[in-house]
Amino acid sequence: MNLPTVLLGNARSGDLSEVGYRSVVTDTNAAASIIYTHTDEAPLLATYSFLPIISAYASTAGVSVETRDISVAARILAQFGLADDALAELGALAKTPEANIIKLPNVSASVPQLKAAIKELQGQGFDLPDYPENAQTDEEKAVVAKYDKVKGSAVNPVLREGNSDRRAPLSVKNYAKTHPHSMGAWSSDSKTNVATMSSGDFFANEKSVVIGADDTLSIVLVGADGTETVLKESVPVLAGEVVDGTFMDVAALRVFLTEQIARAKAEGVLFSAHLKATMMKVSDPIIFGHVVQAFFPTLFEQYGEQLRAAGISPNDGLGGLLSAVGNLPEGDAIKAAVAARLAEGPEVAMVDSDKGITNLHVPSDVIIDASMPAMIRTSGHMWGPDGNEADTLAVIPDSSYAGVYQAVIEDCRAHGAYDPSTMGSVPNVGLMAQAAEEYGSHDKTFEIPAAGTVEVRNAAGDVLISHDVQPGDVWRACQTKDAPIQDWVKLAVTRARASGTPAVFWLDENRAHDANLIAKIGEYLPQHTASIEGGEGLDIRILAPAEACAFSIERIRRGEDTISVTGNVLRDYNTDLFPILELGTSAKMLSVVPLMNGGGLFETGAGGSAPKHVQQLVKENYLRWDSLGEFFALAASLEHLATSTDNARAQILADTLDRATGTFLNEDRSPGRRLGTIDNRGSHFYLALYWAQELAGQSEDAELADAFADVAAALGGNEEKIVAELLAVQGSPADIGGYYRPDDAKASAVMRPSATLNEALAIL
Ligand code: NAP
Ligand code: MG
Repeated sequence: MNLPTVLLGNARSGDLSEVGYRSVVTDTNAAASIIYTHTDEAPLLATYSFLPIISAYASTAGVSVETRDISVAARILAQFGLADDALAELGALAKTPEANIIKLPNVSASVPQLKAAIKELQGQGFDLPDYPENAQTDEEKAVVAKYDKVKGSAVNPVLREGNSDRRAPLSVKNYAKTHPHSMGAWSSDSKTNVATMSSGDFFANEKSVVIGADDTLSIVLVGADGTETVLKESVPVLAGEVVDGTFMDVAALRVFLTEQIARAKAEGVLFSAHLKATMMKVSDPIIFGHVVQAFFPTLFEQYGEQLRAAGISPNDGLGGLLSAVGNLPEGDAIKAAVAARLAEGPEVAMVDSDKGITNLHVPSDVIIDASMPAMIRTSGHMWGPDGNEADTLAVIPDSSYAGVYQAVIEDCRAHGAYDPSTMGSVPNVGLMAQAAEEYGSHDKTFEIPAAGTVEVRNAAGDVLISHDVQPGDVWRACQTKDAPIQDWVKLAVTRARASGTPAVFWLDENRAHDANLIAKIGEYLPQHTASIEGGEGLDIRILAPAEACAFSIERIRRGEDTISVTGNVLRDYNTDLFPILELGTSAKMLSVVPLMNGGGLFETGAGGSAPKHVQQLVKENYLRWDSLGEFFALAASLEHLATSTDNARAQILADTLDRATGTFLNEDRSPGRRLGTIDNRGSHFYLALYWAQELAGQSEDAELADAFADVAAALGGNEEKIVAELLAVQGSPADIGGYYRPDDAKASAVMRPSATLNEALAIL
């Protein structure tokens, strides 16, 4: 057997540690390779344990597993020439047919996280400048520009050179049916509802154009007196690209919010706001700030001047306001006014009722895609100030997608909670390639400083889109290139064909952007249904989001599946909503990105990097991260490699891994949450065991079966000993030598504590 080949993830400036998975260097002759990304937090820790298993098993098929470091730490170092730019390298690779990348979740760094990572790296001896607080000089501005490239969602848009195919693998769905998770009962007199705007919002104000020829656009605010302010100088666009502009009319928003606060009070339900301040990081904190102001109108009438002068913004939430006003002479009066208003009601939904943290405290505490399904799973309830569950008015200002949640609520009110043991599935085909749709639009979102007209102009000076705006309105533009749209339509047809399932495009002909997409689908769909065998007989429809949802959930109750084909935002929402209802979590999803140029990007699960899990590991040497997402991604990656490089052994590895994952689920080997049960490391041991047993038992390749017979015996024969070795380390603190850039040797030692397991893997 060959030794597994693992390339160094190029975070390091010089010395290569000889321990851990980033240690073994180069075999450039390897026939085919899989790139496994080195990321952050819990998935990174899991990698220290799981990657040695993957490398050992893959080596038997001549497959090398290389790593590339795209962690926050490595990306910072790369900006200052202290490490290779692995992200740029992978971004280029993703555009080639050879790409086979397993992408684990990574931190989308906020400024505080960025500062913490810089501090840690400086402490490790890297010569990095501090993050400039208030950049003045050109030099400081250049430093900020570099750090800004690491900030926020900086990884996924670079790698996602394809659209998204997310679904529950059959084994996971079957497991959920035989082991249904709890679902709170729904009552027909539930008073829970979604409230959304009927005019003046992003939906209503949207205008959309299809670009005729490659061009460069600009976005300009023309003031009432004719003065021009350039909001965005250059937006390059391609022929066929869909460009939208829209705005939130803040006067209409405030009227709406005031009405909903009164409505919640009148109906005796909790008031709750649901936004996405993390991803929509320009528009949604502003909208959140309006929610806070609408809830405390007299407070801001009375003290608005003082708060502004002290630099206290409602956009940072009630939490930031209450802690900052301590220094003001009016501090006590302001705190009393807040308390009085909260007591007067309506009651506000709570994030933590024990600590008195309301839904209005922190803009990013309540994130719509996770919070709405959690509410629906909990009988339509959120938690009130008294710590008890209660019916809720869920306020989602923009009406583009709010109707989806109202449709689910009405269905539950009429028919009761869903039954995970019988319900069907709603997989998703999502448009996201080349930064398609909303998430790419932060750099094109503006809080309007003065009354006037926002114009989107082409290079010739023609006005393509214009809106009359008032100060404070939130205006934004959004781009979607044509090639990704064509690929998305094709992927929908391919999935519908492969699964024999109806597919529904969730698009509203009354929305400007959607109307343009519907026209393009009219053009591209016949091409793809004709080109894909059996394509003509498929059930493919276009329905507005709320109707598409109603159609899909009616089927779900009958145990039927329906593919949701959506834009980027609904991709995010639906791949939390349906998995959480069907499976209890979105962490168990298969998440494939078929790259437009033929390669494969395999994302692991649909969750993030679970920072709480790292705290627990450091405190008590227990990692509750579930690697199921990695298992599914690996099987899909091996399968892709088998097909693209004609490697029969890789196909056997993929098939046996798939069966091993089924056994893993049936035997309940996912990590528990408490000490004394197996954690992430134990779950890797069991996967390795079941996988080796499947490989030893298969009859397609006798040599491979032979090789794995010894491993299966060494693992199976020592099950008790290995589990005991893994459990023995739990309960005391663990030292991994860093948070953003752990020490390889230390982290590897912590994550591979069973000598017996390590010896068994060394057989290969
Ligand atoms: P999160 O990491 O998904 O965490 C939310 C909770 O989900 C966790 O605390 C954990 O619950 C549970 N969870 C998620 N994945 C799990 C897994 N594989 N095994 C077990 N439990 C799992 O979301 P977040 O706190 O909003 O985001 C954390 C970071 O991840 C942020 O920096 C965010 O930007 C990033 N993120 C990255 C991606 C990506 O790269 N694709 C996607 C989303 C978020 P318990 O604590 O109850 O165990
Ligand atoms: Mg999500």
